[in-house]
Amino acid sequence: MSYHWAVATDRGRIRKINEDSLYPPTSGRSEGPAVVLVADGMGGHIAGERASAVATERAVESKGSLKERVEAANIAIFEEIDRHPELAGMGTTMTLFELGEDGVVRFAHVGDSRAYLFRDGELSQLTTDHTVVAEYLRRGTITPDEVATHPQRSLITRALGLQPDIEIDTGEEPVGPGDRLLLCSDGVNAMIDDESIADSLDLETPEEAVWDLVEKANRAGGHDNITAIVVQVD
Ligand code: MG
Repeated sequence: MSYHWAVATDRGRIRKINEDSLYPPTSGRSEGPAVVLVADGMGGHIAGERASAVATERAVESKGSLKERVEAANIAIFEEIDRHPELAGMGTTMTLFELGEDGVVRFAHVGDSRAYLFRDGELSQLTTDHTVVAEYLRRGTITPDEVATHPQRSLITRALGLQPDIEIDTGEEPVGPGDRLLLCSDGVNAMIDDESIADSLDLETPEEAVWDLVEKANRAGGHDNITAIVVQVD
């Protein structure tokens, strides 16, 4: 199995800094195993940027399963706060793929960044948002139409940096040539709908796809930092 990915990250049109982090920092290819990830930091001022960067660095250098990488990234945030108490309260989302040489893509996820699979023209979300509105939706308290405008839409229920002990969702998906995968921060999916995301993923190359997502999210207002990684399976 061969993987080819493209990455893009942008501050958006409102925020002064980009608190999202991603890995790898540039486009690339691999036969696997390879880890790709997005992290969306929070905490205000420089803290959010620091949280996503510290967590990303630790997740990448850690060995073991994706779950172990996320656990290590979580601890790294607490260590950073010990060294710099002014950063207390910072946190980050984290969603990762491990692109397997066996043709299986494994993922781990905490927060409201997303992983999608685009196969045969159909887009499906592999992860579940850890947000208050996603919980309301599951309980039927609100309808899908109400999500985009709900006052609590950005409230997340799980993130790295909140507790030393963390609940991590994991899963896996066998992939084949022609499949595409997307990791993105909520600056993408909060600004453009699934149909529009699918149109971007249908473009000729992963490079075109990621930059089209950034451009569309900005055109829709760019309210948040925008990060996308598109992986093509060959
Ligand atoms: Mg965000």
